[in-house]
Amino acid sequence: MRRATITFDNGPDAAVTPAVLDVLRRKDVRAHFFVLGKHLVDRAGRDLVARAVAEGHLVGNHSFNHEVPLGDDPRPDAVAAEIAATEALLAPLVPGPRRFRPFGGGGAIGPHLLSPAAVDHLVARGYSCVLWSSVPRDWVDPVGWPARALEDCLAQPHAVVVLHDIPDACLAGLEGFLDAARREGIDLVAELPLAVTPIVDGEVVGDLGPLVASAGRG
Ligand SMILES: [Zn+2]
Repeated sequence: MRRATITFDNGPDAAVTPAVLDVLRRKDVRAHFFVLGKHLVDRAGRDLVARAVAEGHLVGNHSFNHEVPLGDDPRPDAVAAEIAATEALLAPLVPGPRRFRPFGGGGAIGPHLLSPAAVDHLVARGYSCVLWSSVPRDWVDPVGWPARALEDCLAQPHAVVVLHDIPDACLAGLEGFLDAARREGIDLVAELPLAVTPIVDGEVVGDLGPLVASAGRG
């Protein structure tokens, strides 16, 4: 049976995340949320993380500002400002294990995703690094994305789909997509295939070469 894991990036968003959680509850789907630290400064954002955790979802760190991919970030304190600052807000809400999803702008996988300092931090702090295998571009095409996502899921034994719980992205098509995936016999699971987790619980298990900016960039 084909499997797919659904993930939501860049939230939580007070206007969208509650409705996404409602759909997931109605459809009995467990998903992953990779949240931004800047959305956790307010109590409302932290409450949404708490709700997601209480409803069985997995919540991880997706940087604080989401402005410059870590492999391109020249700031010497980028890891502290992006990963650790978000971790400080998430830790009281998420019992762990720690998960980090790098961002790269448009979903491209390449050496802009991580810096050597970021890898050191993730390993030292016991993180899993969670990549993806389908980016149906819901934020560009809030109506048409489900067809691309379904195509991606049918083309792989276990797709990991990136959606966004932000305005004008996945929400309108989400329920229809989940129904269509199940009609195609796809099992919607929370587990992650090894192919998208080059670091598992602080242990490097995949090839980080294509994901890390050359040393010396910080
Ligand atoms: Zn993102």
